[in-house]
Amino acid sequence: MIWDELDSGLAQLRADGLLRRRRTLDAPCGPEAWIDDRRLVAFCSNDYLGLANHPALIAAAREAATRWGVGSGASHVVSGHLRPHAELEERLAAFVGRERALYFGAGYMANLAIVPTLVGRDDAVFADKLNHASLIDAALLARAEHLRYPHGDMEVLAHRLQRSTARRKLILTDAVFSMDGDLAPLPELFDLAERFDAWLVIDDAHGFGVLGPGGRGSLAHFELPPSPRLILMGTLGKAAGGSGAFVAGDRRVIEWLAQRARPYIFTTASSPIMAAVLLASLALIAAGDDRRAHLRQLIARLRAGLAGLPWRLPPSPTAIQPLLVGDNEAAVRLSGRLFERGLWVPAIRPPTVPVGTARLRISLSAAHEATQLDALIAALRDCAGHPH
Ligand SMILES: *Cc1c(COP(=O)(O)O)cnc(C)c1O
Repeated sequence: MIWDELDSGLAQLRADGLLRRRRTLDAPCGPEAWIDDRRLVAFCSNDYLGLANHPALIAAAREAATRWGVGSGASHVVSGHLRPHAELEERLAAFVGRERALYFGAGYMANLAIVPTLVGRDDAVFADKLNHASLIDAALLARAEHLRYPHGDMEVLAHRLQRSTARRKLILTDAVFSMDGDLAPLPELFDLAERFDAWLVIDDAHGFGVLGPGGRGSLAHFELPPSPRLILMGTLGKAAGGSGAFVAGDRRVIEWLAQRARPYIFTTASSPIMAAVLLASLALIAAGDDRRAHLRQLIARLRAGLAGLPWRLPPSPTAIQPLLVGDNEAAVRLSGRLFERGLWVPAIRPPTVPVGTARLRISLSAAHEATQLDALIAALRDCAGHPH
């Protein structure tokens, strides 16, 4: 019976055009992707600084494999916490200017660790409607009241905070929204957290490495003070070019997570190779002003190049540039036409984005060259001129 349900569920996805298709790539992550002997210029990855295949990181991986082996062998709280993990945490904390940092194998896990460890049944989570799926799941796992406010709406949020009788309150937000590229109003969110005595948890998956002086992220971009109520999550699989994530903040908060967070305790520590790679990556991020300047130029070039097309390009100062097509099938068709021309830009549809806002999600990287971007601009202008 369960098999019939799975079959009909899959058939439904197929009928709705919602089946996800994995593609197998035959080359490292970079601006050029090889699929089935075809070369494509890819605008899909989150490798915003072009570090995923950087020689310095590859060298760090080689050296670390020789020095530390491959597996960590246990959880961090047993015997899996090796010197590279410890050094990485210290450098991360210093880099973002917080007392302590805790390293996780993935951002998804870090979010599942933060929220349920800080709030529970008698508490309330206040979350932006467009938050990343991992933050939604984290709030559900916490079993706290889950109040979702309209995207960026500080008035509604203030009102809900004011009315709340929850014992503990936690505001949860992406710093850079992953499907829109826009920034959360972090200074206003911080003021509300102060006013209503709430935690403020900021997921900086797409800001870390990209925004702020030295790439220190969205908090540095907005110059937020390092308040104990402010908890920063940053991922290391995007601009940092590796994998994993960190939570940084007040040392008591971090110690509490290290003691109590189940997704920290009951999982094997990631490879010491990755920790060593990320140490090398942090140095490149800190010295990455040229990469960030190039990325900013690409963003400006794309936005200027796409002006006047029939699809809206909402304001986004980040590497994520959403081209709103609206209709699901039209978005898929446009993505398909680009693919035929050797340009890989994913179409994003509901339920990942709100109904009626299907889009192309153009991800830029400092590894892109202006000529590659110009090819995309020309193809999109061409598609707009010949809609059928
Ligand atoms: C990618 C992402 C995550 C998950 O991070 P992983 O390290 O890939 O698990 C969490 N939050 C946001 C906003 C993201 O974009």
